[in-house]
Amino acid sequence: MPPMWRQSCPQIPSLPNPRAAILNFVKGVWGRGNVTLNTAIYSSDMKIKLLPALQDNYMYMIIDEKTKHAAIVDPVEPEKVINAMKEENIKLTHVLTTHHHWDHAGGNEELCKQLTDLVVCGGDERIGALNKKVKDGDKIKVGSLNVTCIFTPCHTSGHMCYYVEGDSNVPAIFTGDCLFVGGCGRFFEGTAQQMHEALNEKLSKFPDVTNVYCGHEYTVKNLMFALHVEPNNRDAQQKLEWAKNRRDRNLPTIPSTLGEEKLFNPFMRTNQPVIQQHVHASNIIEVMAALRKDKDSWKPK
Ligand SMILES: [Zn+2]
Repeated sequence: MPPMWRQSCPQIPSLPNPRAAILNFVKGVWGRGNVTLNTAIYSSDMKIKLLPALQDNYMYMIIDEKTKHAAIVDPVEPEKVINAMKEENIKLTHVLTTHHHWDHAGGNEELCKQLTDLVVCGGDERIGALNKKVKDGDKIKVGSLNVTCIFTPCHTSGHMCYYVEGDSNVPAIFTGDCLFVGGCGRFFEGTAQQMHEALNEKLSKFPDVTNVYCGHEYTVKNLMFALHVEPNNRDAQQKLEWAKNRRDRNLPTIPSTLGEEKLFNPFMRTNQPVIQQHVHASNIIEVMAALRKDKDSWKPK
């Protein structure tokens, strides 16, 4: 479990060294004028601005502090993106699209009408205004930040996640509708084998400190399901309590970290005997399939 200071003070970004985290946080917040505490996560050279959209979607503006160049993940509401650009005084260079569903890619065309020269990245021809089709392992530069594309088909057949790192910051991963806090996306165009590969062979190989920014605010319901599967998981219990408290105050539960997900996300714990017993399977692909099936029909009490 991550240290308790993160649980009780979640605005502070998760860094491996709590003292460095606090110093960076203080520098980030007090070094600037108009900061919204709960929507801006700082590290030394990357700033991530959370932009809530539609009913429960998140768009993310990734700002390279050195050059003031930025990328936007899934800009479904272009007006909000334009306003955030003005607030932050940045130049938007890239759109990183996770997948073609309208609540993620539906704003691409309008945004491109308003801003010319945008590089619109994605892994699926069905994505509006796509002009840079990317594949697994492709690298993109946003200012001085390095973005690695990770192909994670299953929710859709062209789903991409984006891993972003700078010189000295904690890395971040943008997981769209593949990995959620405490859960994963539905298997609309893929198989349990593919979701297993995405979560447990690809994403899980990145450092545990990596911050996870997902496409929807589904955390409370996901953790309730996690506890239906694993009732005695203390990490899931604590995270649910924390997440409910955040949502009661209308605050986001994003980001988590990959290390945390391994502690409470049942779809990243398919090797755990208690989960295998719950779904009456021991083959990890069968466990993944059975868990998703269970979740598809499960309703919180
Ligand atoms: Zn989707």
